[in-house]
Amino acid sequence: MRIFDPHIHMTSRTTDDYERMYAAGVRALVEPAFWLGQPRTSAGTFADYFDGLLGWEPYRASQFGIVHHCTIALNPKEANDPRLHAVLDMLPRYLAKDRVVAVGEVGYDEISPAEDEALTRQLALAAEHGLPVLVHTPHRDKAAGTRRTLDVVRESGLPPERVLVDHLNEMTVAMVAESGCWMGFSVYPDTKMDVDRMVTILKEHGLDRVLVNSAADWGRSDPLKTRAVGDAMLAAGFSEADVDTVLWSNPVAFYAQSGRLDLSGVTASDGDPITAGGDYAGNTVLRGTPA
Ligand SMILES: [Zn+2]
Repeated sequence: MRIFDPHIHMTSRTTDDYERMYAAGVRALVEPAFWLGQPRTSAGTFADYFDGLLGWEPYRASQFGIVHHCTIALNPKEANDPRLHAVLDMLPRYLAKDRVVAVGEVGYDEISPAEDEALTRQLALAAEHGLPVLVHTPHRDKAAGTRRTLDVVRESGLPPERVLVDHLNEMTVAMVAESGCWMGFSVYPDTKMDVDRMVTILKEHGLDRVLVNSAADWGRSDPLKTRAVGDAMLAAGFSEADVDTVLWSNPVAFYAQSGRLDLSGVTASDGDPITAGGDYAGNTVLRGTPA
């Protein structure tokens, strides 16, 4: 089984995770820029974070046989801090970079005027840069937040096929399906969406424009949930080709719209761990010389 995790925050994960992901079949992923748990207090720390998503983290992924791309944005939660509005002015410089395959995560958190402003500006930036958009939907009041998100996307004039609306559930899937946007599902250990409910949604809505991700980050989450969904699909009677559509071809098709998806580093899919070697700015993932 080959897996492309279209939404995972590897900066917060360990090398054990990379090894387990490779063994499970993960060969490519997209890491969206997001909130780090600790609120940031100045725009400069975003530059360092974005540089990490474009430098150190792709190097680290490569050491474990996984191809890393990212999305760049000012996230909805931190859009509410006026000290961070300068991040919006930094974005054009980052959106021009090779490994940036979308603008994101953008969207709503508490649905404030500052979030409205950040979302509208970043949708416009996506249009200017010819990039797809990854849109986060709020955890509270999800149905109203998702409806409002779809309205703003429609007003932006972006083609719906260039927009991925993420963190959906049974309440929000139909309105996003109808909008023509791509549908993202984050499968978590105990909230949002679980493996069995995910399989039921795939049975009811089909595989078209559906993406499944682990959204694993610094919170309670599991980078192997993509594999768990693949296994559950097979157990429920879906074919291997169906699994490949959801876990590989769909995310590839969505992010390939950026014109920047480079999967030439993807290796054959046996689960043996690999060690790529090389260094990044003189640093490696090794601690001392291996025995
Ligand atoms: Zn996320």
